Amino acid sequence: MSQNNFKKLIPYGWDEKWQTLYQQYKKENNTVGRILRGGGGIFIVFTVDAEVTAVPSGNFRYTLKREQKQICVGDWVVITKGTEYDKAHIIAQLPRSSCLLRQAAGRKTESQELAVNMDILGIIYPLDRPLRHTVIERYMTLAWDSGSEPLLLLNKADLSDNLPEVQLEAEAIAIGVKTITISALTGNGLDPLYEVLKEGVTIALIGPSGAGKSTLVNRLIGESAQDTGSIRASDGRGRHTTTGREIFILPSGGCVLDTPGLRETGLWVDGEGLNQTFSDVAELATGCRFTNCSHLSEPGCAVKQAIATGVLSSERFLSYQKLLKEQEFIKSRKDEKSRRDYEKRWIDVIKFHKNLKGRK
Ligand code: GDP
Ligand code: ZN
Repeated sequence: MSQNNFKKLIPYGWDEKWQTLYQQYKKENNTVGRILRGGGGIFIVFTVDAEVTAVPSGNFRYTLKREQKQICVGDWVVITKGTEYDKAHIIAQLPRSSCLLRQAAGRKTESQELAVNMDILGIIYPLDRPLRHTVIERYMTLAWDSGSEPLLLLNKADLSDNLPEVQLEAEAIAIGVKTITISALTGNGLDPLYEVLKEGVTIALIGPSGAGKSTLVNRLIGESAQDTGSIRASDGRGRHTTTGREIFILPSGGCVLDTPGLRETGLWVDGEGLNQTFSDVAELATGCRFTNCSHLSEPGCAVKQAIATGVLSSERFLSYQKLLKEQEFIKSRKDEKSRRDYEKRWIDVIKFHKNLKGRK
């Protein structure tokens, strides 16, 4: 067992932090690796020794169930070897550095992991359509909530006829977020992105459908790895959408995590990320007289004051409120009391916005 040969894992993001987390599992028959692909309880794991097919051990399956956890593509897992590799068992999951969840909006909120352990969440927004602030803000919030760093990629720059204005507009929304303007199709503007994607950095891409996610992934990988049906000559494996992997090492360094769930839209926000996306609102709110100010009818409200004086646009505040509403909707499904609170509160919000409109 090549316990010391962790170098092979570095392109997949292995570093001292993972090394430390693995320490307690380090034993004669154990090894560690990153899940490249998985489904139906069977996973392809890249380890220092080989790419192995592994299944959770009985014990570990029980632990997952008890703790209501899942393992998925992107996870670092501890594997114990059987007599042969095809009998490898996953016995533990290293704690994640980030996790992007999809909240299923039902009576009970359930969530599903879309991507884990990515360092950067690349938000692709195409410039062949108007900049929709709320959409970008939603994705930014998801990124902050996931524990990864958002990166705004304005794609299809070749189709924009007012690039400088749009860039300024986008930067005003993406406060504290690096913004790169690219054309995934022509390959223009990618250098700053390559600079971000150093060896060991994992990026996952989200964005509206048609934004250019597949085009960018293909461009980064440097081959048409995503055309369904085609077979990669190098390893004879099928497409990643069917049998291939979902983590790709980029020739330029870094890796891209590309799971099918990520391509879908309709993601919910749930968490503190909203305050990061709207750090301007959050900062204004520190000036409100009441710490739990809802910025609707309370006296001494710094946010309302800012809207009145034009420091904060009512559009931006509305978009903040919309995402907040969405977030509270998710929470409200959890019990009866929150549901009633939610309904009561949002009646006030609707009234408030009607008033704002009326005043204009
Ligand atoms: P996805 O749904 O986000 O995966 O989007 P795709 O990668 O499938 O791209 C949608 C369409 O936009 C395709 O027809 C691409 O060729 C096109 N496209 C992607 N990037 C660019 C770009 O930078 N410029 C132009 N003009 N078209 C692009
Ligand atoms: Zn207030």
